[in-house]
Amino acid sequence: MNKAGWSRRQFFVTGSAAVVCACCTCRVARGAVAPAADAQPALVAACGIYCGACPALGASLKAGAKRSDIKCLGCWNPKHAPSYAPKCAVRKCAKLKKVQSCGQCKDYPCKLIPPLFNDKPKYGLREKNLNAVRDQGLEVWLADQKKRWTCGTCGKGFGYGDKQCPSCSGKILTDAEEFAAFKQKKT
Ligand code: SF4
Ligand code: SF4
Ligand SMILES: [Zn+2]
Repeated sequence: MNKAGWSRRQFFVTGSAAVVCACCTCRVARGAVAPAADAQPALVAACGIYCGACPALGASLKAGAKRSDIKCLGCWNPKHAPSYAPKCAVRKCAKLKKVQSCGQCKDYPCKLIPPLFNDKPKYGLREKNLNAVRDQGLEVWLADQKKRWTCGTCGKGFGYGDKQCPSCSGKILTDAEEFAAFKQKKT
């Protein structure tokens, strides 16, 4: 398989957590997901967001939800992508280039990329994430992200915006702390 190409096994993972994409307009109702192929979350967004840590995706996975309540199961989910996804120039371009992440693109960072980065941790961290995909490859980055968004105390997932573990209230590395460290390293 081409490292930059599409692999269902690699990008559609059952299980954990979350996303609210403020860049997208996805807003998720609470609820559970029937175990169908299109209900498997896609954890990579082209722009560098880790969908597995997004509150919107987490809400869509919660037990008890009706299928009609599912609003987002990740940027590349075939049926339940963010509502903004079909209009997103970055996602369209990545699709044409047959990459799941812009970090896999030979033209990264193109002119579409810098406007993606801003001072909100979830969006500012796109730069760190895309650089990591470029430097280490997507599989390594995905494995690191899964660990990074898992509580060291209770083993449950947490996500962007959480200040403590939502399951056990334990201490976590917040997105704000990670982003502050990233910015400091850059200066
Ligand atoms: S690639 Fe576009 S649609 Fe997908 S998460 Fe990023 S900004 Fe939203
Ligand atoms: S050209 Fe830019 S937007 Fe398109 S896939 Fe490459 S890095 Fe992403
Ligand atoms: Zn915990």
